[in-house]
Amino acid sequence: MKADTLMIHYGELSTKGDNRKAFITCLLHNVRVALKKFGLPCHADRDHIYVQLGEEDPRPIIARLKEVSGIQRISVVMKTAPQLEEMREGVLQLLKEENKETFKIDVKRVDKRFPLDSYGITCDLADYVLDHSDYAVDLHQPGAKVKVTLRSDAAYLSCHEELGLGGYPLGMIGKVTMMLSGGIDSPVAAYALIRRGIKVECLHFASPPYTSYAVVDKLKDILVCLNDYQPDIKLQIVPFTKIQEAIYESVPEPYCITVMRRMMIRIAVAMAKKNKALAVATGESIGQVASQTLESIGVIEEVTNFPILRPLCVEDKLSIIEQAKRLGTYEISIRPYEDCCTIFKPKRPKTKPKLEDAKFYESKFDYETLIQECLQNIETIYISEGKEVEGK
Ligand code: ATP
Ligand code: MG
Repeated sequence: MKADTLMIHYGELSTKGDNRKAFITCLLHNVRVALKKFGLPCHADRDHIYVQLGEEDPRPIIARLKEVSGIQRISVVMKTAPQLEEMREGVLQLLKEENKETFKIDVKRVDKRFPLDSYGITCDLADYVLDHSDYAVDLHQPGAKVKVTLRSDAAYLSCHEELGLGGYPLGMIGKVTMMLSGGIDSPVAAYALIRRGIKVECLHFASPPYTSYAVVDKLKDILVCLNDYQPDIKLQIVPFTKIQEAIYESVPEPYCITVMRRMMIRIAVAMAKKNKALAVATGESIGQVASQTLESIGVIEEVTNFPILRPLCVEDKLSIIEQAKRLGTYEISIRPYEDCCTIFKPKRPKTKPKLEDAKFYESKFDYETLIQECLQNIETIYISEGKEVEGK
């Protein structure tokens, strides 16, 4: 008998009623994709996905699974027949391998037809361990804890489990168009969406020659980091220079950022609709800069009734930085670059812009034509499993 199976717990999926089957199918698919290079057999039932480890070291496999959304917990389990004799031997063997002094056993009896109840099984197994080892029981701070899940076809015994990402399987909740700058926040926002099970495709506004083309390399590196969580990500580069020049010719300085962001949202919504994405997302967090006051957000968002998601809206900068460091995007984001927001940065941006003023200023140039031109000249890059690939 060996602990040679990984048991994946669905967590939040269990609340999904009729959708449950679709969720499990989607998660099983994503697990198979994530574990492709290990070539291990996986299968799913109503409650768990099982991965047969064979002789493989579980650690790199668990590390990979911890990057897959929709997984609540992962445990390394020993499978035995659903009979007391086998469970006793299994529990004793696991505890001997743990080599601790005290233990606790938790039994979950899924199949209620088993003659003993959970308490009866726990006592039986604990007695066996006490009779056959030097272990003592400690219910409060046990050195080793064995979980026993008893089902009709088998018992699963485990001493170790790790937390997964939680959320939903990627792809179940649809797709959004993520506005990706080269900054710290937007990659963290993208991750928050992916973790929830929402697929992202990215859109970046570039203003060469005012912004350097190197920003695209930076974005590619960021997406390589995010590939750990979403294996294929599309990056669309919007040629934004002409619009930006028009804004700075026609709009008074304090309103430049407001009008620029209204243009960005118009383009992002058009692209989202074209690509059948269900929302646009940004890395904004309320109050962080002039364009992120509630007043600004209201004036900017007035251009559309399409949903706009701001996963970081209530996060503070320090917590965002911490998450970016964990993701590995922080070091990439802080590489020097010129963003189209910083390049023409007004000295006194309006923190409480007025809608009528924003509308009046933007009516001074033919933005509809410029937007159409942008939409026709978008460059698309695909980053898949850590590298750039040809279009699909
Ligand atoms: P970030 O660190 O994500 O750049 P920020 O705090 O610098 O955010 P802003 O520059 O005001 O804030 O941008 C707010 C959000 O607008 C960004 O998180 C991003 O979603 C979007 N955004 C800004 N500039 C661009 C750009 N050049 N291309 C695409 N999206 C952008
Ligand atoms: Mg920025």
